[in-house]
Amino acid sequence: MKGGSALKRALCGSGAIAPNVPAPALVRVSCSVRAKITSCKRLVRSPTIFAPKEIANKWSVAYRPGMDDQTTSKHRFVEKRSLGAHPKSDESLIGFVARLAERQRVQTVNTVFVEIGPSVANNRFYDEPAARLAHLAGTTVDAIRTISYGPVDSSVAVFRGRKLPAKMLDVFARRYRRLCPRCLEESAHHRCWWDVQAISVCPIHKLALIAACPKCKKGFVWKGSGVLTSSCACELDLRGLACAAVTDDESAATGVMHGLLGDPRFQDEANQIKSLPPLSDLDDGHAAEFLFRLGLDLLGPRRKPFSASTTGDLLFRTHEAVKASCDVVKSWPNQLIDIQSAWAASDDPEVCKHAQKSAAAMQRWVNHLPPDQGLDLRDFI
Ligand SMILES: [Zn+2]
Ligand SMILES: [Zn+2]
Repeated sequence: MKGGSALKRALCGSGAIAPNVPAPALVRVSCSVRAKITSCKRLVRSPTIFAPKEIANKWSVAYRPGMDDQTTSKHRFVEKRSLGAHPKSDESLIGFVARLAERQRVQTVNTVFVEIGPSVANNRFYDEPAARLAHLAGTTVDAIRTISYGPVDSSVAVFRGRKLPAKMLDVFARRYRRLCPRCLEESAHHRCWWDVQAISVCPIHKLALIAACPKCKKGFVWKGSGVLTSSCACELDLRGLACAAVTDDESAATGVMHGLLGDPRFQDEANQIKSLPPLSDLDDGHAAEFLFRLGLDLLGPRRKPFSASTTGDLLFRTHEAVKASCDVVKSWPNQLIDIQSAWAASDDPEVCKHAQKSAAAMQRWVNHLPPDQGLDLRDFI
């Protein structure tokens, strides 16, 4: 085997292998192993080197079967490359896979997805793919299911135990990838909050989430591996990017949304708003959904009033929407009555139509609430 005898001589010289021990089967190893075999200076410069399998395993780095091992490529990661990586408590599934891809030294997130089952990147899967990802990462299936946004093929997503319309989340990881550079500085993982369409600011740092490269203006997407580098050709370190500041009120309203969606840091804020009508008898998921749907309507006429879909620039203004709906809840129901009256009396036919459509759509949504929820809302409509 080419290179094997050279490595054996080098390893014997460095004391890694006793000279009188028969040479073990040698396998091709990665750059990182090369770097770690510091005594093998001549081999570090070689494009391909080989090392005993035990040494490659000991360093827990990418060992690629294939030179002396006929393992086929399908699921070889699962069989060979468990790394002991666990999701963070507020990490998104796609972010975890991206981080894992970087640890595995594979080029893209999609490479991992092809290996584990769903051939395209997404943010929710349970069954076999979850088991394979757990095996690959060296974690539990439950840990994967906890960060998944629910079972596939459903219009309802599950986010930290709360049922939400799938449209409220970036379920398929196809929308702009948003992030807070200061949060990434503190911990290099993609927060699940950034996948929620109702969250467009970071309430910790009071900054607008950034979704595009400031240099080439391309939106960030899930491409390549890792979570710290921009997906465009600029390959910027995301931690160094500047973000626009937001007002204290907008930040606080997004904090309420964090709390309703299970962020323990904002539980008090969530409890406070949930003590008020009309949210007092709604569960956390429905309360968050109501604030989001109503808030988007308060920003002005839109194609589908009271819907959970964000089109155009609305995606980047959801913190304004949530702030507006929190204000309405704090003075329930008077402020909303005034707003709806003003819409109905407007000279702009578009606004008048918006008033009617919004009220009708809210009524339909309330009618579908569980019977023990939404009593104040039923009184209002
Ligand atoms: Zn932040
Ligand atoms: Zn760029």
